[in-house]
Amino acid sequence: MDHFTYKNNELFAENVAVAKIAKQVGTPFYCYSSATLEHHFKVFAEGFQGLDTLICFAVKSNSNLAVIKTLADAGAGADVVSEGEIRRALKCGIAPNKIIFSGIGKTASEMEFALNTGIYQFNVESEPELELLAKTAQKLNKTAPIAIRVNPDIDAGTSAKITTGLKTSKFGIDINHALEVYKKASKLKGIKIQAISVHIGSQITDFKPFEKAFIRVREFHAELAKNGIEINVLDLGGGIGVPYDAEKNPPPHPRDYAKIVREVFKSFKGRFCFEPGRVLVGNAGILVSEVIYVKPTDARNFLIVDAAMNDLIRPSFYNAHHDIIPINQKSAAGNHKYDIVGPVCETGDTFAELRTMPELKPGDLIAFRTAGAYGSVMASTYNSRKIVPEVMVKGDKFEITSRRMSYDEMFEREILPDWLK
Ligand SMILES: *Cc1c(COP(=O)(O)O)cnc(C)c1O
Repeated sequence: MDHFTYKNNELFAENVAVAKIAKQVGTPFYCYSSATLEHHFKVFAEGFQGLDTLICFAVKSNSNLAVIKTLADAGAGADVVSEGEIRRALKCGIAPNKIIFSGIGKTASEMEFALNTGIYQFNVESEPELELLAKTAQKLNKTAPIAIRVNPDIDAGTSAKITTGLKTSKFGIDINHALEVYKKASKLKGIKIQAISVHIGSQITDFKPFEKAFIRVREFHAELAKNGIEINVLDLGGGIGVPYDAEKNPPPHPRDYAKIVREVFKSFKGRFCFEPGRVLVGNAGILVSEVIYVKPTDARNFLIVDAAMNDLIRPSFYNAHHDIIPINQKSAAGNHKYDIVGPVCETGDTFAELRTMPELKPGDLIAFRTAGAYGSVMASTYNSRKIVPEVMVKGDKFEITSRRMSYDEMFEREILPDWLK
């Protein structure tokens, strides 16, 4: 459910006409709905009512400060993968004891920053990382609360680039070796064993792999207990998919996910951590773009728009589908087939092929739906295009939450060497 709906054939974000925002900020731009963010967080949390939970928003999915702050105010902690993301979480007032640090490549200086911040948990993904964390904690006279991220060798049934729980993935520690690593961790000064963590991938729409992975974690939890390692925190990661193609493939509801968790862990009495990203922010954002040209060729009819792969890379990078809708809904069903492409000088800069749309003309506005997750965060200046602004709507108000990059900003980090001056 989201708050991007038509009123009198015009697309609105909550109570604001999207065309009105376009007029003020120009195109392209990302537009987020705070009501949708709040609703998604509430729905996710409701599934676990009565349980001790820490729901940490996966900041990498959308790290705009206004988005993080909206979710933080709704009660979210933060799942972070870099010092930069810890800094973002702190800026938004998220308490250190609600921050979980994931990722396979934490550096010593990032560990120091996190230890000095006093974060809730480090999710450790390898033995060398465990050793460096222990050493770093000892140096600072601190203790690092850890989970070992176990890799259960379960196929999440999602896109290969975002599958993380296979033996061949770079993530986590093989669950069959994890007992030894916990034993080793229990002897390390500077380390406090706190949790087991698991995260098998992203955009998971069939929940069976979750169930399998959780059952494996439950068995492992019992095995640890038998070996004298009592664990009271289970971090079950993120990964719930969202509907990109709402009509054809509605994925199961977060409440079905909660049911699986409750069922599998019905005899576990401790705390659950979750790291949802996409499911909280995916549908809460759109990318708005203007048609520059319509270019019919013998083979295709190209709709050339002012957004490109550098603004939203998911279609070219993951072959992802985004519903694309006109801001002005004219004839109900479309009867034109367009290849919707950006201006970037690569054929890969294609958002959709042979997409059925109403007839569109230069100057018309379109919206890419479900662009709130892994959209703006993956933007680049490729082709020396300015990073596009982000706007947040709340009721009948809207504000720019990230300015459009200026050309001065684009160039200010670059320096000509002396011999070229
Ligand atoms: C990316 C990631 C998440 C969030 O994944 P979503 O699919 O966006 O929910 C959570 N935990 C870890 C460790 C991740 O790498």
